[in-house]
Amino acid sequence: MATDFPLQSARVRSALAASSPRELARQLARSRREFLRTAAGVALGGTLLPFTRVARTQTSKKRKVIVITFGGGARDQETFAPEGQENIPHLMRELIPQSTFFTQVVNRGILGHYVATASLATGVYETINNFASLPPEYPTVFEYFRKDLKRPSSDAWVVAPSNGFNRIGESNHRSYGGGLGARVILPKHLLTAAMRGASTDYEHLLRDNYETPFYAPELGGSEFELQQLEMILKLSVDDFKAHARTLSSPDELSVYIARQLMRQVAPSLLWITMHDIDVAHAGAYSLYIEGIRRTDRLCAELWKAVQSEPEYAGKTTMFILPDFGRDSDDDSAGNGFQHHRTGDPLSRTTWLMALGAGVREGVVYERATESVDLVPTLGSMLGFSPSMAQGKPITELL
Ligand SMILES: [Zn+2]
Repeated sequence: MATDFPLQSARVRSALAASSPRELARQLARSRREFLRTAAGVALGGTLLPFTRVARTQTSKKRKVIVITFGGGARDQETFAPEGQENIPHLMRELIPQSTFFTQVVNRGILGHYVATASLATGVYETINNFASLPPEYPTVFEYFRKDLKRPSSDAWVVAPSNGFNRIGESNHRSYGGGLGARVILPKHLLTAAMRGASTDYEHLLRDNYETPFYAPELGGSEFELQQLEMILKLSVDDFKAHARTLSSPDELSVYIARQLMRQVAPSLLWITMHDIDVAHAGAYSLYIEGIRRTDRLCAELWKAVQSEPEYAGKTTMFILPDFGRDSDDDSAGNGFQHHRTGDPLSRTTWLMALGAGVREGVVYERATESVDLVPTLGSMLGFSPSMAQGKPITELL
């Protein structure tokens, strides 16, 4: 679609020439909507479609939610823009046409992966040290969900790529915390435990080479990890090791574990943090693109898994959103795709797609929402009260 290049650059140029960050975000959201409309033919804000909300037949007790963070953040020119669409064929052709899509999700918080993911999970812009082994300060969505709805610990799980995410499931807030959070599974830890230091065949899955916290988190011993594998996931150590050898990246390992979790435990609230794209920090553009393509494919695989698992099919709403974006090529304070250090509007203006139970298909909204709106939206959807969250429910999804 080379003919669309002039449109893209004109839009980017006009966006960059605009004055305020708010106006920049708005222009970015508008161009993103245009890209989607042109490519996927989806309607705009529902105005071209009759109101066809799926009837809310599922009681909130049966409703399941899967949240996927679109790993480490990517820019439009490598994703939604005409020249980037070849990197996200599954999103463009399969998932977006089935989704309600928001083109302007602004993150006003700190652009580090752990703290930003914690903010997504609490609905509050957290200010905890991104590189420390600290729990979120405010209650997480998992605590609201479990406390208000009286759900067991088996009903809320997080699958996270980096050892630094081991505290993401539960805050230290005095009214919550204390065993009310999600169970966190760290696939790399499982693999380390399964290997028992015996092999180097898995280096490509165990690398933690970008934004790695500077500490060695205190985690359970390998006995605990092996128990998770065998008792909860029903995977023998040998099967797990054999399968892991076929996988090409940490996110593939996470999705494999998530699918096992769906099959064996079927949690109602499942949060999967992808991170492969963030290999961009190493500076290799080709690896960054490879990460985007893999994440695109893995999102589609998870959506297929939802359809094929009886516990999930027909009653699951899936959310896909990045924690934040990456720097533009034009900001002299940054280094383009490699980092997210400038805090410019491009790295703050992300997107969100929701699909599945209760969500209209093929609708794009351009109005501004915020990263902290996710938790209140999940609260309204599932029937719990995120009383300390800063954001507002996204009414178009309810
Ligand atoms: Zn990063």
